[in-house]
Amino acid sequence: MIINLRYYDNDYYYNNLPVVSQLTQSPLQIANPEQLERIRHTCAHVMAMAVQILFPETKVTIGPTTNTGFYYDFDRPEPFAPEDLKKITKQMRFIIKANLPIIREEITREEIKAEIEQLGEPYKLEILDSIPAGETITRYYIGSPDGGRLPNVGEKLKGALPEPSLIKPVKIPATVSWWDLCAGPHINYTGEINPNAFALESVAGAYWRGDETKAQLQRIYGTAWETPEQLDAYLKQQEEAKRRDHRKLGKELKLFSIQEGAGGGLVFWHPRGATMRYIIEDYWRKAHLDGGYELLYTPHVANLELWKTSGHFDFYRENMFDSMDIEEQAYQIKPMNCPFHVLTYKNDLHSYREFPLRWAELGTVYRYERSGVLHGLMRVRGFTQDDAHIFCLPTQIAAEILGVLNLTEKILSDFGFKDYEVNLSTRPEKSVGTDEGWELATQALVEALNSKSWEYIEDKGGGAFYGPKIDIKIKDAIGRTWQCSTIQVDFNLPERFDMEYVAADGSRQRPIMIHRAIFGSLERFYGILIENYAGDFPLWLAPIQLRLLPVSEAQREYGETVVATLKEAGYRVEIDCTGERLGKQIRKAELEKIPVVAIVGNKEVETQSLSIRTRQQGDIGTMDLTELKKSLDDAIANKANM
Ligand SMILES: [Zn+2]
Ligand SMILES: [Zn+2]
Repeated sequence: MIINLRYYDNDYYYNNLPVVSQLTQSPLQIANPEQLERIRHTCAHVMAMAVQILFPETKVTIGPTTNTGFYYDFDRPEPFAPEDLKKITKQMRFIIKANLPIIREEITREEIKAEIEQLGEPYKLEILDSIPAGETITRYYIGSPDGGRLPNVGEKLKGALPEPSLIKPVKIPATVSWWDLCAGPHINYTGEINPNAFALESVAGAYWRGDETKAQLQRIYGTAWETPEQLDAYLKQQEEAKRRDHRKLGKELKLFSIQEGAGGGLVFWHPRGATMRYIIEDYWRKAHLDGGYELLYTPHVANLELWKTSGHFDFYRENMFDSMDIEEQAYQIKPMNCPFHVLTYKNDLHSYREFPLRWAELGTVYRYERSGVLHGLMRVRGFTQDDAHIFCLPTQIAAEILGVLNLTEKILSDFGFKDYEVNLSTRPEKSVGTDEGWELATQALVEALNSKSWEYIEDKGGGAFYGPKIDIKIKDAIGRTWQCSTIQVDFNLPERFDMEYVAADGSRQRPIMIHRAIFGSLERFYGILIENYAGDFPLWLAPIQLRLLPVSEAQREYGETVVATLKEAGYRVEIDCTGERLGKQIRKAELEKIPVVAIVGNKEVETQSLSIRTRQQGDIGTMDLTELKKSLDDAIANKANM
């Protein structure tokens, strides 16, 4: 559900929170999501009130909700210290326990402007100026407008007034009259917030309106829940998420780096990460070839005219890098692959007999993201989409969508993701395409979902302007969900590019175009994989499957022949070259999360065997090479570990 934050929504950031906060807490069952949303947003107000009681020099700005709580941006000369968060929390509890009413008041622009100027709150003034003329202006009081005492029921005040008995004396200065300019909605009393089910989490820097050229603010993040148990579960999950953070593991396991010297959001895949990417890509190509797709490679830049035809230049420019001049023509680095697939299509005349055409590409795209929103592999400026486009007849849509759903399920479950949250988004108010086209395509999506017997959430009117879509979120090992796969019907590009096929009656018709991605972005999917497995990758993905540890130099020669044999058989194997004592070698392999180690001492050399130790089971005894290969093969085939 979307809370009306119209006073803020002209800023990109409030609708596009960092990916980390887009996680939902599926194990934390919420009884009343709408009420929780109001609680979270009201918590932001309560926090701002508490801050201004404790630190009166602070200027307030805005305080929207996140998927796990709320934040508020403050302008205060002194930085907030960890002890300050404790003080603020305590003050918030007073306000909550006082069970103060939250009172909505409609007010004229002139009246509130005068009050804001008197208060000296420059940000409120800016917010007021950004409210379109003619819109009702509301403010919300916590407590009552005259500071702790109930107001007379007067003509100015609207909204429910509290029972006087609910107002208890509190440690809030009687002179404090706190309100914020806001479109609401809120809860009715602060006592609806459970004082033991919220926590202040951190302070971060933020810019006013998310604009680096504007004032630097301090953002306090908080989390709020219905019950202390939910809060506890959330905080535990946060701890676990920290342990699994792909940025931390990526560095420790030497998988990838992002280097400020090269620029933010650009990913370097190091040998171990690159090995995994190669395995993932290889798997992906095979799955697509088996699924009746053909592969494409297309350029990374093209004449800007292409992006004008596609509409990206007009509607997507803020996410595109600037163009470059090549022989006095403007060229654009690609933010999307779609127009290239369209050009490939248009290079030939196609007959209905060729349909469906399924064209897939691991296509690297570049998108401009503000440096403030970049986040590890999750939000980057250069990434590779596992993109594909299907061109087909209207009668083929349902079967094609079903094919995509089947392929998606196969691929995601092979990577360990078996739980999905599926969304179907239908026609929005503003759209291109015909009524008939939308009806047909939407029905086809529904039909495909029904054939899978997948439950889905319908987001009425939430589709893109160019067609209906299905989005699939995966659930990870600690219950977080991540948006990955998307399947979208497009009535727009075929029209803009005047795409055609020759129909059975010889006439020229527009093909149906379907966009789809399963991983979404390889970089992001890899980040999710790292966090899902906490770096303990199943054997088929592990960059090093087995490391051989010689007890002393005497066994190195035997060890090296074993490694050579296993390598030749296609396993990813290496020998420890450090010359350290065995204990140290084992610890090193453990830190690097090597799934299997084979220890070789004199006894093993004599019996031509290996002492095997796995991360999952510890010591599992000695094996000869044949037995070892069989165990490895079984685990690899089951996409599991030994
Ligand atoms: Zn509010
Ligand atoms: Zn596309």
